[in-house]
Amino acid sequence: MSILIDIHLHTEKHSECSRIDASKLVERAVKAGLHGVIITEHHYQWSLDELEELNAEAREPGFLLLAGFEYSARQGDILVYGLEAVQSERFAPGEDAREVLSAFQGDGALCVAAHPTRAGLSYDENIGELGFDALEVRSVNLKPHEQRLAAGLATTLGLPALAASDAHRLEDVGAHALSFDAPIQSMADFLRAVREGRCQPVTRNA
Ligand SMILES: [Zn+2]
Ligand SMILES: [Zn+2]
Repeated sequence: MSILIDIHLHTEKHSECSRIDASKLVERAVKAGLHGVIITEHHYQWSLDELEELNAEAREPGFLLLAGFEYSARQGDILVYGLEAVQSERFAPGEDAREVLSAFQGDGALCVAAHPTRAGLSYDENIGELGFDALEVRSVNLKPHEQRLAAGLATTLGLPALAASDAHRLEDVGAHALSFDAPIQSMADFLRAVREGRCQPVTRNA
């Protein structure tokens, strides 16, 4: 059985732009067929206490609830996974992506270019020099031609192509996700699977 995880979404708890009520997130994710989610608020990472509390309220044993964060660099947005929550406050928004990436990766983070080809929010042609670990190539915020461009870019750069919803509305949770062929039970499992290329982008027709 494949494991489905949505690795990029926002809740209204810590992202002003989102309308997702965190208390409804897990129920919705389970209905969408997901086995886990990674909450990635803008410039904020949920603490372990917050995650534990939400998980306890949700009463979905076995559901994987993790957090990373989304950092807005001068050149574009970066999804950061595998750091302690306090690191989400390390840089003010708008710093140079190269500097931020090397600092976070130096501490062991996996850094993914969010919606790299999104109109108005895309990286320029120097994206390959920034040192990303992977590219997001599908989300509800990438139009079909932007998804094709992003997939081509991932192939050109030789980077893993990831999919996630980038949901800001409950109905979008799980619209795109990553499929894993082995259990993912922790952030460490997730990081290892992506680094080893053991995941596949999945888009759901709902
Ligand atoms: Zn947002
Ligand atoms: Zn986002």
